[in-house]
Amino acid sequence: MDPLRLLADQRCAVCAARGALLCRACRALLPWLRGPFCARCGEPDPHGRVRCDRCTQLGSGIATARSALAHHGAGGSLVRAWKDAARNPVAELAASCIVAAVPRPAAELIVPVPAARERADWRGVDGPHALAILLGRAWRLPVGTGGLERVDARPQRGLSAAQRRVNAARAIVGSGQIEGRAILVDDVLTTGATVRAVAHQLRRAGAERVDVVTFVRVATIP
Ligand SMILES: [Zn+2]
Ligand SMILES: [Zn+2]
Repeated sequence: MDPLRLLADQRCAVCAARGALLCRACRALLPWLRGPFCARCGEPDPHGRVRCDRCTQLGSGIATARSALAHHGAGGSLVRAWKDAARNPVAELAASCIVAAVPRPAAELIVPVPAARERADWRGVDGPHALAILLGRAWRLPVGTGGLERVDARPQRGLSAAQRRVNAARAIVGSGQIEGRAILVDDVLTTGATVRAVAHQLRRAGAERVDVVTFVRVATIP
C-alpha cells in the first residue's frame, strides 16, 4: 500500500483527529438506524407499516433491504472518506457496522453491486466488492458476481430518481446462472435504482430471492 495513504489513515475519517480511523467521540455519534422499520424495506418508519414509499422505489424483485447507518453526520462523512478519498480501511468499519446492526439474511451467495470498471480503477476503490468480501467472511458465505457487469460510463450522481432508474437498468448486464438466495451488497442506498436493476437481473438469472444490505441509506421518508 502507498505509505502516504497509510499515514493519511492515521486520522479519524470524520473529524480528522489524529489516531484511529474512527475516533471514540465520532464512534459514539454514529447514526445507527434503529426501528421501528418498514418490515420489508427497512425504512425507519414510526408507524411500523409493512409497505411504504421506499418499497415502491425498490420494486418487486427485492425481498427485504436493511442498512446499518443513516447517511448523515458521521455516516455521511465515512462514506465520503471511503468513496472520494479512497480510504479502503473504511470497508472494514462498514462491514463491522453491518454485522453489528443487520441480521444476516438467509442466503447461499453474496453478490456486490458491480462497479463501473473504469471508475473503480480511477478511485482505486471498489466499495461494494470490498464490503462483500468482508461480509462473506463474517457470514461464511461465498461471494460471486452473479455473472453481472456494469457497462455504464455515466455516474448516477446528479440524476433524478426517474433518470437513475433508466440509467441503472441499461447499465447492468449479464447472463449468469444462480441457484438459491442471494444477498446483494452496496455501500449506499440512495433512490434504490441501482439495487433494483441488479436484483432484477439476479432474479432473471435464477436467484430465488434477493435481500439487499447496505452500509448507509439516504432516508426518503421524514
Ligand atoms: Zn472523530
Ligand atoms: Zn418499505
